[in-house]
Amino acid sequence: MSAEIPTEQWAQVVEKPGGPVTYKKIPVPTPGPDEVLINVKYSGVCHTDLHAMMGDWPIPPKMPLVGGHEGAGVVVAKGSLVDDISIGDHAGIKWLNGSCLACSFCMQADEPLCPSALLSGYTVDGSFQQYAIAKAAHVAKLPKDVDLEAVAPVLCAGITVYKGLRESGARPGQSVAVVGAGGGLGSMAIQYARAMGLRVVAIDGGEEKGQSCKALGADAYVDFQSSKDLVKEVREATPEGQGPHAVLLLAVSERPFQQATEYVRSRGTVVCIGLPAGAYLKAPVFDTVLRMITIKGSYVGNRQDTQEAIDFFRRGLVKVPYKTVGLSELQKVYDLMHEGKVVGRYVVDTSR
Ligand SMILES: [Zn+2]
Ligand SMILES: [Zn+2]
Repeated sequence: MSAEIPTEQWAQVVEKPGGPVTYKKIPVPTPGPDEVLINVKYSGVCHTDLHAMMGDWPIPPKMPLVGGHEGAGVVVAKGSLVDDISIGDHAGIKWLNGSCLACSFCMQADEPLCPSALLSGYTVDGSFQQYAIAKAAHVAKLPKDVDLEAVAPVLCAGITVYKGLRESGARPGQSVAVVGAGGGLGSMAIQYARAMGLRVVAIDGGEEKGQSCKALGADAYVDFQSSKDLVKEVREATPEGQGPHAVLLLAVSERPFQQATEYVRSRGTVVCIGLPAGAYLKAPVFDTVLRMITIKGSYVGNRQDTQEAIDFFRRGLVKVPYKTVGLSELQKVYDLMHEGKVVGRYVVDTSR
């Protein structure tokens, strides 16, 4: 099992902020002492990749940039210090490409907060190429019976929503509202929530998204496009009519972020995960105090969250609806995202 590593490979490269991506040949990188080289077979496409290309986030991405942070593949080379991963192992490249492992955040398993964190497809090249590098300590370990194509979206979307649900503090039997439930993150959040014993109120716009949410196990669907009183409808969709114990905000527009505190149950928790460009949170102080509402952010997951999220998938508790296209067609996926026409997740096949 020692496939020849070529010197050149196909990649999608962002040459300047705003894009587009250019499909071209670039050199295959060489791993450093604490790194592995992964032959990426499939990579999911995340909304963050679009932001990275557009350069509309407060942190500037590297340029030129190879995006992508849901890469699933096979380890083909490793540095001299790597001894817990072997050539031929299956591994995933996730958003957190590496961290220092020595700061007070890393020491407490909050490595996504590490001031020296390396971000795949943002501050370092990511998985929209056939051969990508990651710090060995941070790659997701993928059991060999896990399908590389199907698991790709778990590596960002899955880990992110699983962590968000954990951060919400919602317990089995309680209710969680998933806002943006029809998108890539949302479809996974519904299933993780169900697998964790939670009732799900899915919120999104349009009938098509409603049908997909119900099919994935949502207990109720509230359509913000047709609803006359969204706050009332969400509350009524929970057993006592008091609203959900937690709200997972996965939306990519600002409005739902202002609304969540109105329908969350008293003592409930609003968890922000989606990142609408330039958006602000606004909540009435009076309600927040008198109803004891918690508003917090949740950002990807640590190494343990990663392995747990993958294990839910491996056990068949989470299925990811996805469409596969060639890596060469990445720009088309971005165009669809721009138009808000993506239902579920896109995965790119790096062999075409
Ligand atoms: Zn992502
Ligand atoms: Zn650190």
